[in-house]
Amino acid sequence: MPRLAVLLFVFLFLAACQKAPDPDGPLLAVHCGALIDGMADEALGARLVLIEGERIKAILPGDTAPPDASTSVDLEEYTCLPGLIDTHTHIALVHDDSSDLTIYYRRPIEETLAMTERNAEITLNAGFTTVRNVGDYFPEAIIDVRERIRRGELPGPRIQTAGSYMTIPGGGGDLVVPGHDESEIPPGIRIGVARGPEQFRDKTRTVIANGADMIKVIASGAVFAFGGVPGEPEMTQEEIAAVVEVAHAAGLRVTAHAHGAQSIKDAILAGVDSIEHASLADDEAIAMAAEHGVAFSMDVYNGTYTAEVGEELGYPEEFMRKNEETTEAQRIVFEKAYAAGVPILYGTDAGVSPHGYNGRQFEIMVARGMTPMDAIRSATSLAAEHMDMEPDIGAIEAGRYGDLIALRGDPLADITLLQSIDVVIKGGELVSIDP
Ligand SMILES: [Zn+2]
Repeated sequence: MPRLAVLLFVFLFLAACQKAPDPDGPLLAVHCGALIDGMADEALGARLVLIEGERIKAILPGDTAPPDASTSVDLEEYTCLPGLIDTHTHIALVHDDSSDLTIYYRRPIEETLAMTERNAEITLNAGFTTVRNVGDYFPEAIIDVRERIRRGELPGPRIQTAGSYMTIPGGGGDLVVPGHDESEIPPGIRIGVARGPEQFRDKTRTVIANGADMIKVIASGAVFAFGGVPGEPEMTQEEIAAVVEVAHAAGLRVTAHAHGAQSIKDAILAGVDSIEHASLADDEAIAMAAEHGVAFSMDVYNGTYTAEVGEELGYPEEFMRKNEETTEAQRIVFEKAYAAGVPILYGTDAGVSPHGYNGRQFEIMVARGMTPMDAIRSATSLAAEHMDMEPDIGAIEAGRYGDLIALRGDPLADITLLQSIDVVIKGGELVSIDP
């Protein structure tokens, strides 16, 4: 189909698709010039992907004629991949607010909601059809947007959310700022603040009752928080274990924010399912993660972004210093963890302002020794497995949701192509095209 005809078709299609498709709705026939299905070691050749309603019905050889009743999308000059998954986002925040964290004391919920909606749409257009929102100061905004996206009222990725941060008073997930009294912090921000195993057990039950799909603990100090050292343990092993016990009993996974070697080991022994950052892990912590099958979600692009914009935006010197201490260190741990067989999940954190740069991390992962196919799997099938969503997302396979992206060229030869996605289809609905 000529370029103009594709465009015209897309406008008509978008006009027809303002609401969520019906599960046994119309047939969409997508002609892919090449297919990376998210599971196989090699790219497959040309394929016809049939999507019925929201789900993939069949994947057929590229020369198959599409069924009569179907609508066709011609992507013969494109490579199709599964919709990407980012396992570490905070879409109720923007990175640039790090210059003054007290903004969160004052920001009205309407403004937070509008920002969350905008970030959700930008993230989807960047090719990320699913995200794991790992903790937030405004858990209710995420839950609200998650529900409206599910009902087809808002454009955005499928969202799994951790709800409130589980953190100690003054810890990396609390919002204590020097020179400000704790009474200034809105209570909704501190739902998961606790001390001691008993309190953490109770707070975990509250966060689950509030609608969390998973749980996030701040095991050790954060880069973007005052006081504390990124490597220093905050929660004890017993406190983390108390959270894990309640979450696992409810069938939910636990992810731990942990930079330091000791807190990574504490979190692994406490039974968490994944570790975020892991920037100061030692060889023993890496070996433990590999042995226990605990995944690392490493934001190896984020530090570069902070270094580029932080000074100009007036980030506190303390954040800039801690960013420097953890950026290269984390990339070295990434290389070692990948070589040791630790499952690595794609996760960009908040350093992807304004949530449209999610794809930039692929380039650093490949530069640091990961094969392009493994980098793609870390953002597709492997991520879906660790989110317990592999029946639905993470691969182009019959039965899963019709979430796919397409780009011109071969991302296995040039991984930076994933920074700019030409076509996004979510649940059989064409959401964007940039030919
Ligand atoms: Zn984070």
